[in-house]
Amino acid sequence: MAKIFCVANQKGGVGKTTTAVNLAAGLAQHAQRVLLVDLDPQGNATMGSGINKADLTASVYEVLLGLSDVATARKTSETGNFDVLPANRELAGAEVEMVELDNREKRMKEALAKVDAEYDFVLIDCPPALSMLTLNGLCAAHGVIIPMQCEYYALEGLSDLVNTIKKVHAKLNPDLKIIGLLRVMFDPRMTLSQQVSAQLEQHFGDKVFKTIIPRNVRLAEAPSYGMPGVSFDPAAKGAQAYIAFGAEMVERIQTM
Ligand code: ATP
Ligand code: MG
Repeated sequence: MAKIFCVANQKGGVGKTTTAVNLAAGLAQHAQRVLLVDLDPQGNATMGSGINKADLTASVYEVLLGLSDVATARKTSETGNFDVLPANRELAGAEVEMVELDNREKRMKEALAKVDAEYDFVLIDCPPALSMLTLNGLCAAHGVIIPMQCEYYALEGLSDLVNTIKKVHAKLNPDLKIIGLLRVMFDPRMTLSQQVSAQLEQHFGDKVFKTIIPRNVRLAEAPSYGMPGVSFDPAAKGAQAYIAFGAEMVERIQTM
């Protein structure tokens, strides 16, 4: 049975997709079987895994609407050694079209149940909104990984996300937990980064992952080559950090 995790934060540009793609590749390097679900109409996780979003016959959109299934729509990331359930702009329409469907917040969960046994990890890259798509991710997951930058405003949005997770836990998915907060794009030379990082540890204790992802330009360059940073430049500091994060996650699920 796969462990299913959402990478979520309703703030835009905080490093969700970079985390989802590189954790997928990092876990694959630790011999884990991984499915990466792109649940964002931007299709960034799809492109960053080396799959052309303009070239899909089926995608997560058809899967959510019951027009296809995961086994048909999934692709393989050759550059990252994991499977991808891809997305493109079509997915933006799903929100509206799902309104008429029964159990509309559980469509992802039902679709994943059919391939669950084939994977150790399923990672879901959520869009920057607390929308029906994100809700589908949260209903399907055992836990949430929250990437955040260590800056002042990061903490403000966090309480909205935590409240949403609590509500989903109470009403829709009793399995759902916050697995951890991941500090990303970290710049150790900035005093503010150090301060916010220390505050996070104080408030959230062992819910803060030990691994810290540094700001590293190689991670930002990799998507334009259709490669996870972990495969693009394995020796770079950012790639090394995501490989270490993969190991931390493998360890974490043993105690879950
Ligand atoms: P969105 O909310 O739009 O989905 P996101 O939360 O998925 O965004 P990313 O796309 O992963 O965020 O990252 C935003 C930008 O920051 C991208 O240009 C990415 O390449 C860059 N970036 C992410 N992590 C790092 C890092 N550790 N070092 C340097 N650049 C990074
Ligand atoms: Mg993204």
